Amino acid sequence: KLYNQVQDLKGNIRVYCRVRPFLPGQYNQLSTVGHVEEGTITINTLSKNGKGQKSFSFNKVFGPLATQEEVFSDTRPLVRSVLDGYNVCIFAYGQTGSGKTFTMTGPNNLTESSQGVNYRALGDLFLLAEQRKDTFFYEVSVQMIEIYNEQVRDLLTSDGLNKRLEIRNSSQTGLSVPDASLVHVSSTSDVIDLMNIGQRNRSVGATALNDRSSRSHSCLTVHVQGKDLTSGNILRGCMHLVDLAGSERVDKSEVTGDRLREAQHINKSLSALGDVISSLAQRNSHVPYRNSKLTQLLQDSLGGQAKTLMFVHISPEPDATGETISTLKFAERVA
Ligand code: ADP
Ligand code: MG
Repeated sequence: KLYNQVQDLKGNIRVYCRVRPFLPGQYNQLSTVGHVEEGTITINTLSKNGKGQKSFSFNKVFGPLATQEEVFSDTRPLVRSVLDGYNVCIFAYGQTGSGKTFTMTGPNNLTESSQGVNYRALGDLFLLAEQRKDTFFYEVSVQMIEIYNEQVRDLLTSDGLNKRLEIRNSSQTGLSVPDASLVHVSSTSDVIDLMNIGQRNRSVGATALNDRSSRSHSCLTVHVQGKDLTSGNILRGCMHLVDLAGSERVDKSEVTGDRLREAQHINKSLSALGDVISSLAQRNSHVPYRNSKLTQLLQDSLGGQAKTLMFVHISPEPDATGETISTLKFAERVA
């Protein structure tokens, strides 16, 4: 019985690893990725003791040739459960340049086949809601916020970056950011418009050298309310789609001032997230949600009946081996 409960709970946290392919123009490099099997990835390492290999296991590993469609097909069941009233969190973790935004959103020159998880999840949500329309009436609304230096900001208003928002916890509505814009949507194209607005607002004030998007967490939250047309019962579920800040360690001897402060905040919030997920996976009685804004915000979508999916991303370049290993260690701790 206990064993089953542990299995159930573990079943609520899944970790997928995705390897970015080499980019056009990157020639003659040997990938750090030795080989990829269903759930195991082997990394070639090079240290003063010579060549070595390290293997890591996850629920699934997607190699460099995996398509956006393949990656999403394993995410689908989670989307379905939002309509059944569950809370879901999907995270993209990894160093800057490893493919987080590609997985969640897609490349800059977006086409239908290169659309990432966010678009596909919303597309699926509307499709399923339509299929259930004789039994359920669904309403969908969206928020998009950013957490930068432990401050929460609205990405859906043009002056949102200037205003800090509060996270509230009420016994009636659970956790929320009541002052962030909440926009009702009824089609995928509504969502695409909103995501574009969010992205535009986020890049205001960012220069090429100062790409804020890699140093803040962005969170697209989809709230779903379904009314059972026969019983009148209301179901509520929400899905958080989180593109995390880059996980790379910065060299403290090289950065100062703003960059050091940013790095410390990122470090703190990513370890807080790791601590929360790993204590849930181990069924600890105390889960340290309060150690970061991110984990506070997601408190009622992490643990309990909620479902979590973490995509960890790695870059194939030998230069990145150190970061790759630390990313995989982080992921193994939460898996
Ligand atoms: P991150 O958000 O982690 O900083 P990006 O998603 O911006 O990284 O990816 C860095 C670059 O690599 C971008 O040009 C992106 O289009 C490209 N890229 C990432 N993942 C893939 C992939 N699976 N296939 C093709 N190109 C990718
Ligand atoms: Mg990115």
